[in-house]
Parts: sequence; C-alpha cells; structure tokens
Amino acid sequence: MTKAIVAGGGIAGTATALALHRIGWDVSLFEARGEDADERGAFLTVAVNGIAALRTLGINPDVALAGGYPTPTCVLRNGAGRELARAPLGGPTDDGLVTTTIRRADLYLALRTAVRDAGIPIHYGRRVTGVTHDADLLVGADGINSQVRRELDDARPRYLGLLNAGGFTSEPVAADVDPTPGLMHMTFGRRCFFGWSVAPDGSVWWFANPPSRTPHHGSSDGWREHLIDLLSVDEGPAAAIVRATPDALGPWNTYDLPRVRTWRSDNVVLVGDAAHAASPSSGQGASMAFEDAVVLGEALASSASVPAGLAAYEEIRRPRVQKVVQAGRRNGSGKAAGPVGAAVRDFMMPPMMRLLYRNGHPQAWILDHRV
Ligand SMILES: Cc1cc2nc3c(=O)[nH]c(=O)nc-3n(C[C@H](O)[C@H](O)[C@H](O)COP(=O)(O)OP(=O)(O)OC[C@H]3O[C@@H](n4cnc5c(N)ncnc54)[C@H](O)[C@@H]3O)c2cc1C
Repeated sequence: MTKAIVAGGGIAGTATALALHRIGWDVSLFEARGEDADERGAFLTVAVNGIAALRTLGINPDVALAGGYPTPTCVLRNGAGRELARAPLGGPTDDGLVTTTIRRADLYLALRTAVRDAGIPIHYGRRVTGVTHDADLLVGADGINSQVRRELDDARPRYLGLLNAGGFTSEPVAADVDPTPGLMHMTFGRRCFFGWSVAPDGSVWWFANPPSRTPHHGSSDGWREHLIDLLSVDEGPAAAIVRATPDALGPWNTYDLPRVRTWRSDNVVLVGDAAHAASPSSGQGASMAFEDAVVLGEALASSASVPAGLAAYEEIRRPRVQKVVQAGRRNGSGKAAGPVGAAVRDFMMPPMMRLLYRNGHPQAWILDHRV
C-alpha cells in the first residue's frame, strides 16, 4: 500500500489525509500542537467553493459546519455609517450550499473527528522537522511558516500591514445592533476596519483589522482598550461590541505568501497555506486548502507514479491559487486607506459595485468553481 505522512493537522492536513485515504493510501498525520484547537482568527468563513470541495471529500457539510451559520450577504459601510454596497458572499447555490461562518475550533474538531472516524492515526504533539524517507510521500500541510517548505524553497511570508483581532459576545451591546442573523456587516472605519454578524443564538461575532506598519510582537495588555479607542470615532456599534466582549482575542499579524517557486520534489508536496497562503481578507484560505486536497487525491489516483501525480496537481492548482492570493491582497489593501483614498473609495464604490455586479458576481470565478 502506498504510504503518506502528512505534516500538520490543520485544515489542509486533515482534508488531504482524508483525500489520500479515499484513494486507498496508508496515511498518518502528525500535528505539532496538542489536541487543543488553534484560535488564530477566532472564526472563519468557508465559501461555497470550499464547501463543495469538502463534500467531494465525502464529508457532509451539514455535519462538519453544524457549529456555524450561513453568511450569504455582506453590507459594506464607511465610518460615517453610509452604506456603500451590499454584496453576495456565496449561495444559496443550485447545489444547495451557502457560505458559512464557523468558529475555528469547531471546524478543526469536525475535521479531526472525520479523520479519526476514517481510522487515520493523528499523532498530536509531534512536529515534523525535515524530509523523511519513511513514506512514499511527505505532505507539507504545516501552514504559512511551513518547516517542510524550507526543504524545497526559500519563500518567506509577507507582512500585509494589518493586524487582526476578534471575539464573541453574548453580553448586551450598548448600541443598536441589526439583529438579522448571518448578515455580515463590514465597516471601513476611519481608523480601523471592522466586521461583525449576529449568530442564530443572538451572540455577536466580530473581527477588527487595525493598520500597523510593523508586525505586533509581545504582550496583548491594553489591546481591547486600544481597539475601543480606534473604533469609537465611527458611527455604528463597533466600539460598543468590543466593549461588551470581556475577552478580545489577538492581535495576530496578517501575512500572505506571494509566490512559492517550488511546491514539490519526487516525494514531497506542499498543500494549503504552506504552498500559497492568501491574505485573510480573501476569505478563501480554508476553501483553497479543501480544493487542494481534492485535486491532489484525484491527481495521484489517476497518475502512473507519485511524481507524475504531484506534477498534475501543481499544474491544475497553481494558476488558480496565485490569482486568489493576488485578489486577497487587493481586498486587504482597501482596509488601510488614508483620508484621500477613503474619499475616493466612498465616491467610487457604489457605482463601481453596480457596474461590477451587472453581469453576475465578479468573484464567480472563485465561488462557482467546482474541483
Ligand atoms: C486571522 C485570520 C483570519 C482568517 N480568516 C479566514 C476566513 O475567514 N476564511 C478562510 O477561508 N480563511 C481564513 N484565514 C486563512 C485560513 O486560516 C488558512 O488559509 C487555513 O487555516 C490554512 O490551513 P492550513 O491547514 O494550510 O494551515 P493551518 O490551519 O495553519 O494549519 C497548519 C497546522 O500545522 C501544524 N504544524 C505547523 N508546523 C508543523 C510541523 N513542523 N509538524 C507538524 N505540524 C505542524 C500547526 O500546528 C497547524 O495545526 C484566516 C487566517 C487568519 C490568520
């Protein structure tokens, strides 16, 4: 039986382990951290293209995403509270899928449960430190700072000039909060981008992207008060939502990986963020990881050898993921606009969005894609 070792038990690693198991390989998963889930980003949005890929892997989205809720629409506003645009985020599609927001911990748990139920061993607290020859294939699914990638390529993550914070609150918010469940509100605040939505249980899930020239290192003391201060100059409930959140999570620095030249050797391959991390502003990192897993499994199943399968995987995936990484960087750059950029954005965005959406969704190439 062909044997694979997967480094990383995050989104790409669990999905790839399942994809290889489905084609009859003997798979083991090694996760550097303990069994506790990673909290980076607090929650994330899995887009319809990613949910479709999940289904192709044999995972029932209704079960895997049960802890989340549909977020099919987003309203964009400026700091003065003026609505700039209303944009679909994906679904409901003809195949019954809706872009869904879920706590990171719940998604990890669902994926790891699917891996365990398939009989694939997960070794927690085991860090892969280099290329091993104990298997026919080593999959580097070890995230944006991938150790496996270092054996293939010298690409380094690029800091995007934005920090990220997030949280959840069920406390009363001392401001008007639109109670529509799943409507994603995003505000280009004067000093900080802010997003929030109301979950079906009435709690508010939020994230904030304060611009920062340099990455944040060190203590997060005073971080919540700093956010409240940044958000208090804007109309809307942002500052009140953070005030009602006892434990604001973060800050995390945001990065992407513009281009990794080498994704593979004859018996090593990169998937997910290890190969092509997109800015969190793309909302596509998880979905790209699911798509990678499907394509890698199918490429290996239909190729005469492992190296040929890896080549086919890269040929299919590289053009698409690079376009997504570029689109993510563009999305993020608008979040840190200065006063002039903000004025241009506020003036241009409403007619631009009308024009862009006249012939369908401008991101249909991302959302309607089925691997
Ligand atoms: C703040 C933030 C918000 C985001 N929001 C969204 C969103 O809304 N939608 C979306 O689609 N994406 C979002 N993303 C991106 C998304 O989280 C990533 O694209 C996705 O997690 C990539 O999955 P991955 O498995 O490749 O990497 P990860 O999820 O990072 O998993 C890598 C795993 O490998 C483990 N590991 C690391 N090194 C080793 C080693 N040497 N040996 C063994 N294990 C190792 C790590 O512990 C980790 O569990 C966001 C990211 C951030 C930072």
